[in-house]
Formats: sequence, C-alpha cells, structure tokens
Amino acid sequence: MALIVHKYGGTSVGSPERIKNVAKRVAKARAEGHDIVVVVSAMSGETNRLVALAHEMQEHPDPRELDVVLATGEQVTIGLLAMALKDIGVDAKSYTGWQVALKTDTAHTKARIESIDDQRMRADLDAGKVVIVAGFQGISSEGNISTLGRGGSDTSAVALAAALKADECQIYTDVDGVYTTDPRVVPEARRMDTVTFEEMIELASLGSKVLQIRSVEFAGKYKVRLRVLSSLQDGGNGTLITFEEDENMERAAVTGIAFDKNQARINVRGVPDKPGVAYQILGAVADANIEVDMIIQNVGSEGTTDFSFTVPRGDYRQTIEILSKLQDSIGAAAIDGDDTVCKVSAVGLGMRSHVGVAAKIFRTLAEEGINIQMISTSEIKVSVLIDEKYMELATRVLHKAFNLG
Ligand code: ASP
Ligand code: MG
Repeated sequence: MALIVHKYGGTSVGSPERIKNVAKRVAKARAEGHDIVVVVSAMSGETNRLVALAHEMQEHPDPRELDVVLATGEQVTIGLLAMALKDIGVDAKSYTGWQVALKTDTAHTKARIESIDDQRMRADLDAGKVVIVAGFQGISSEGNISTLGRGGSDTSAVALAAALKADECQIYTDVDGVYTTDPRVVPEARRMDTVTFEEMIELASLGSKVLQIRSVEFAGKYKVRLRVLSSLQDGGNGTLITFEEDENMERAAVTGIAFDKNQARINVRGVPDKPGVAYQILGAVADANIEVDMIIQNVGSEGTTDFSFTVPRGDYRQTIEILSKLQDSIGAAAIDGDDTVCKVSAVGLGMRSHVGVAAKIFRTLAEEGINIQMISTSEIKVSVLIDEKYMELATRVLHKAFNLG
C-alpha cells in the first residue's frame, strides 16, 4: 500500500461528467489499497473568467482581493469531487488551502509555499478517507488568502507530496506524458518513458506547458517522485521524471525540442562601448519588472557597439518606451526591435558528453534557409532566436535531425 498524490488539471475537471470520471479513477486507486490525496484545479476556463471579472472592477485589481476571487475556482471543484466520490461510496473530505495550513509568503498572485501542516490530512487518511485539497491556493504569513501563480496547482500537488512523504505524485492531464516536442506541431513526436529533472526544468522554462516550472524545481529539491499521465485515457505509465543518478543508460545528445512564441527582440544601436552601459540599459528594464532572457553585445568598433536582448512579447511596447526615454542619456544612436520572433531550443543532458550539437543545429537550420538572429547556450541546451514564421519548420527539422521521432 502506497500513499499517492493525484493532481487533476482544469481540463480533467472541466465538466460534471469529467469530475465523475476523476472520481472513478480515484476510487479505483483506493480500491487497489492506496491512500490517496487529490489536488484539483478550477474547471477549465474558470480562472480566466475570474481574472476578467476582477478587471471589470479595477484596471489593476488589488492583489489581495484578486486572490480572494481567484481562489474560489478551486473551492468549487474540491466540493464537487467530494460529492462525486461519496456518490459512488468512497468516503472523502475536501479542504481549501488554508484549512490544511498551506502557508505562503505575502507575494499575492505569485506566492511561494513556506510550510504545510499535514496533521488533518493524516488523520483523515488514517480513518480511510480520500483527502481532496484545492490547488493553487494557500494562506499568507499575514493570514490572507494567497495564490501560487497560474498553473500553480502542480506546485500544490508536489508540495503536498513532499510534506506527506508520498510515494509518488501523479499529475493527470490532457496529454499522456511528456513528448519529445509538441505533437500538434510534429506528429512523429514521441512520448518519453522518463525524462530527468534537469531536462524537464529546461523544457518547462523553454515553452513546454506540461508542468508549471516551479513544481518541477520543487520536486527536484525535495526528491518527490513525479509522473505525468493522461486523465482522459486508461492505462499507460505516462512519463516519470527521474533523478540523473537513477539513470545509467547512455543518453542521446538531444532528448527534446521546445519552442516559445512569447518573445520579442530589442536592439539598442550605437551605444558607447564603455563600462556601465549594459547596466544602464538592463537596470532600467529590470526596474520595470520586465524579465530579460537572451542578451547579445557585439564587439565594439570605433568606440560604439550594438546591444540586443529579448523580453516577453507582452512587455515589448513598454520596453521600447522605457529605453526611448533613456536614449539620450545612454547615448544610443537608435532603438528598435521585432516582436515577430520566436525561440526554438534543443535540450538534452547528453550534450555534456557529445560535441558538435550546436554545429548540427546551425547546419540543419542553414539547410532550410532559416536565419538565426541570436543564440544562447547552457550545459544542456542550445536556443536560437528566429523569425516566428519558421517556428514549426525549425522544430520539425531539428526533431528529425536528432532522430527523436
Ligand atoms: N486554476 C489555476 C490556473 O488556471 C491553477 C491551475 O490550474 O493550476 O492557473
Ligand atoms: Mg496546468
């Protein structure tokens, strides 16, 4: 008998029928003799609806009050799921985040989990009940309702699994695992039986939407056994996120291709090539809470240089405005950019021991006539910034070049 945390996302609880389906799945695991804690998201579309309602009241909704509104979505699904379970004879009890004392910091709408009190849940499990906990929410150190950022139910589930020392945290979603790339773009994409934490963190941060990145980091830190499975079909082992030391197989150089359209490039041209310029430019952007990703500074010639970087597409206009105001004090000749770019990345732990991966990527793209605007690399990934019209083509040819199909 094991203690297993199940997490069901918005699509999986998107209608009364689907909630009943989840209840059946939970009942089955219970019948196999396991202790089950279930974490659920709000019904699909509900959190977006609540965000929109809040914006009808206030242009920039008060963060504390926004969390009060957003947390209601999950409260509906926990109650409904408990009823569905009782209806088929399974004893269950629902809890909001604050009822199980999921304590967070005070960063409303993106709070971080600080502690969880497992007492109430333990008592229910010992009494043979299924415990259902609302995802995405907690209580702040000041006693207010908090939420964990969009997609945060994944993180709730992993945190509960860590607190309860669960044997496994199973994330049930509308895909049956983690794929080598998005199967909607590349039909030959393959489900991976396993993927390491490091690769999953890169894939999550580079655009793969299967898991909230924070949940993967959390699972890596607390060594939670994490698995992604389909809630819509039966059978299958999904994808297990593994620790590198558990793996002894020879790894392929590249295990996955990710892409991200949420990118825009900013160019600050003809700036003086002297100390402090990068700080002047990026400091102002950071002060506006805009996240900078790729950065390139060219070798200067005749005392000036060009400086380029990328920001999320939604921050493009604001970034241009901020820098235009500073243009004179920076001493830049021109500020421009492009918000029709995308980032395509190849990820693989095997890159550490294979040479020539980057060269192969560049050759593959060159053969298709795709121009690379920026490049960034880490130990286990290579990313290129390209025109967004080539996103699908680049993903397809790279997937093929590394034999991922
Ligand atoms: N309901 C929240 C959202 O839509 C949390 C989640 O689904 O994980 O972002
Ligand atoms: Mg989700």
